[in-house]
Amino acid sequence: APAPPPAQHLFSDPAEIEALRGNLLAWYDKCKRDLPWRTLAATEPDADRRAYAVWVSEIMLQQTQVATVIDYYNRWMQKWPTPQALAQASLEEVNELWAGLGYYSRGKRLQEAARKVVSELAGQMPRTAEDLQKLLPGVGRYTAGAIASISYGQATGVVDGNVIRVLCRLRCIGADSSSPAVIERLWDMANALVDRSRPGDFNQALMELGATVCVPKAPLCGECPVKQHCRARRRKLFGKPASVPDVEDCGVGGCPLCPPAAEPWDSSLGVTNFPRKAAKKQPRAARTATCVLERRGCHGAPEYLIVQRPSSGLLAGLWEFPSLPLAQGLQEEKQREVLADHLRAWTGRPVVAGGLRFIGEVVHIFSHIHQTYVVYSLPLDGDVTLDPALSPSRWVTEKEFHASAVSTAMKKVL
Ligand code: SF4
Repeated sequence: APAPPPAQHLFSDPAEIEALRGNLLAWYDKCKRDLPWRTLAATEPDADRRAYAVWVSEIMLQQTQVATVIDYYNRWMQKWPTPQALAQASLEEVNELWAGLGYYSRGKRLQEAARKVVSELAGQMPRTAEDLQKLLPGVGRYTAGAIASISYGQATGVVDGNVIRVLCRLRCIGADSSSPAVIERLWDMANALVDRSRPGDFNQALMELGATVCVPKAPLCGECPVKQHCRARRRKLFGKPASVPDVEDCGVGGCPLCPPAAEPWDSSLGVTNFPRKAAKKQPRAARTATCVLERRGCHGAPEYLIVQRPSSGLLAGLWEFPSLPLAQGLQEEKQREVLADHLRAWTGRPVVAGGLRFIGEVVHIFSHIHQTYVVYSLPLDGDVTLDPALSPSRWVTEKEFHASAVSTAMKKVL
């Protein structure tokens, strides 16, 4: 087993742990934001219904801001208030409701897991973090801990981005916070700290603190309910990390949780010295030609052709304008030619490259791809018979386009 970390990185005093829990919960009771899933979790007597609401909200909140999620969550819960209702939905309906929220596989997996609850688990949600993680697709360690603690009262901790930041600051953890060794320590710490009688509230309080007070760039330390337990703040104010061995960084090269010796404490950064992450991999650049094919509908209003993406991979099953990935460095003229060739299949007639009107470029950042859409348009006369042998396709008005399962990137293109 690895040696225990030096004292400055631990919570070892039971009285301090008790005080921290009390201060954090009192602050949470007074200052927490009203959020629809919290209201439901606090008022719904049925534990499985609570669990479903927390589950939906947690999946939506992955990589997405609270303000964006609220409307999606409310519509989702109105449409599918139980796993049973969700299990009966089609993937198309799920994608339509999810459109604009990003990371589309989340909705799909949520629905797959709801079907599993209904068909394999007799409609019962698993009730412990271990079972939730093991039995439900798309439910990872964090989501399982959140559901189990908030809905079923299991005394288990959670570690998400907010908790990582708060704990790293509370205990001056400056080693790479995305490394497995540090993450494991943070889980140990979260499990040790969680309040035994109010685990769900404690976990939400810790995350709420990271979201509203201990924020990444300019934390509000003066208003922080746990400031007296914070070693990063103490170090900022007094130059030392608490009443621990009289050293700046305890291991200087040897401690697995201190900042690396090559990047020591920077006093100009204060508490934002923590957490630290290894440099992120740059997203890969990609270019895609896309064409808005337009025709006059029966009432003279414009209609656009959209086609469905394959059922796996990026933006699986979503609808888009006919699009074609472009090789790097392709000249404009060549781009038009390959796109015209591609469109011939959709329109069933020759498309002249020179007839494509260049509109502009749209940049959209996916988590790992810096995507540039090179946008063209092509008005069509007469009717176009869509070939059923190709991917599903359909003509839509602008209103229908926005109600379809299309990505934010395609909305930008339109
Ligand atoms: Fe975060 Fe500041 Fe509170 Fe420490 S005192 S936990 S750095 S807000």
